[in-house]
Amino acid sequence: MQYYSTNNPQEKAGFRTATIKGQAPDKGLYFPLRIPQLPSSFIKELHQLPKEEIAFEVIKPYVDADIPQNVLNNIVTETIAFDFPLVPVNENSYALELFHGPTLAFKDVGARFMSRCLGYFMHGQAKKVTVLVATSGDTGGAVANGFYNVEGVDVIILYPAGKVSNIQELQLTTLGNNITAIAIDGSFDDCQQLVKQAFADNELNSRMFLTSANSINVARWLPQQFYYFFALQQWPHSAQPPVISVPSGNFGNICAGLLAYCSGLPVKQFIAACNVNDVVSDYLQTGIYTPKAAVPTISNAMDVGNPSNWVRVLELFDHQLGSLKEVMRSYCISDVATREIISNVYAQSGYLLDPHGAVGYLALQHYLEDHPDQSGIFLATAHPVKFFDVVEPIIKEKLELPSAVQQLLNKQKEVIRMKKDWERFREYLMDRR
Ligand SMILES: *Cc1c(COP(=O)(O)O)cnc(C)c1O
Repeated sequence: MQYYSTNNPQEKAGFRTATIKGQAPDKGLYFPLRIPQLPSSFIKELHQLPKEEIAFEVIKPYVDADIPQNVLNNIVTETIAFDFPLVPVNENSYALELFHGPTLAFKDVGARFMSRCLGYFMHGQAKKVTVLVATSGDTGGAVANGFYNVEGVDVIILYPAGKVSNIQELQLTTLGNNITAIAIDGSFDDCQQLVKQAFADNELNSRMFLTSANSINVARWLPQQFYYFFALQQWPHSAQPPVISVPSGNFGNICAGLLAYCSGLPVKQFIAACNVNDVVSDYLQTGIYTPKAAVPTISNAMDVGNPSNWVRVLELFDHQLGSLKEVMRSYCISDVATREIISNVYAQSGYLLDPHGAVGYLALQHYLEDHPDQSGIFLATAHPVKFFDVVEPIIKEKLELPSAVQQLLNKQKEVIRMKKDWERFREYLMDRR
């Protein structure tokens, strides 16, 4: 598969280069030159295929000969080595639980796939690659875990000191080995700024081979299609395809679902479920795209004012607002409504939503109120325990920690503390070997 830059159709790269570089040299996002079409027999047989085989068939055309089939098969199998259950929450709504991976959020899937691809591409290379990421919480844990012990790859994660949850910090700082965590005295934007400066520094880049692992990398984006197929595989209403509601921030996750749909996956309607950060819902209403400053909410992984993957959504629909609106709508959910729905659903059914899944659930209910003959799926993107500080006061109960988290509590944090000082950070990078 060839990928072109969303800034210039002439700027092309294969899967290998797109994965290693992350972003096109002209700062565009890589986008597949053609959308593979899955045979209808494959879709019909979904329910009887092993999930490894489904994932392999879905990703194969995107990788082509850049990774041999037996290696790709292993990568895919390791990527999805946990459950993706579809759990009924009420008579017409189901949760697709994406939080059974090692860091309890859906980002594990993309991070595990990307890390293994990069590990394969770096194998036997003289120079190690250093993955540099800034995180406000969830991304860092998934990236750290995904890249842990991958040969030929070092990872440096910058996070704002004191501004990530305790669990998130443990996920970043207790692995060691090829994973280094740096706590910056500053905000997430300060961390992001340091990372950007590092990528822009010519001398530094001639010394070390730097790359990013953020969500615009094709190797993080594309494997997110897998679980949309797993959802359909478990869908009990064969007469009608589901409405799928996706809690959205940077729109990478929903864009992967839309891509699966364009490849032949039957879906009735997509819902972009957002918190009060409403740039996309504004666009769908007015046709005018106006980036805004992000507003902080309790579903903080979705606090995005200018979604980085939005250009890919537009590209998929040839920048035709009309055709996009036939497939996707958007609802914005306030923190007040999010808290209320977490409380109500828990009281009524015993199902505990995390703040992100709750936004997805409530957006789905709004749609179903207008379409009572339909039924749907919302993506439960994180385990509620990851956001216990929000959830516990709502349900007035203590949450039990899953064993993966309990084990973290006994581990020693290893972290470098640094001021938000570019010269100091640069010196640190220069001194590493
Ligand atoms: C990252 C994240 C999201 C948003 O996903 P995008 O692909 O950025 O739209 C939603 N929920 C959780 C829990 C996340 O970590």
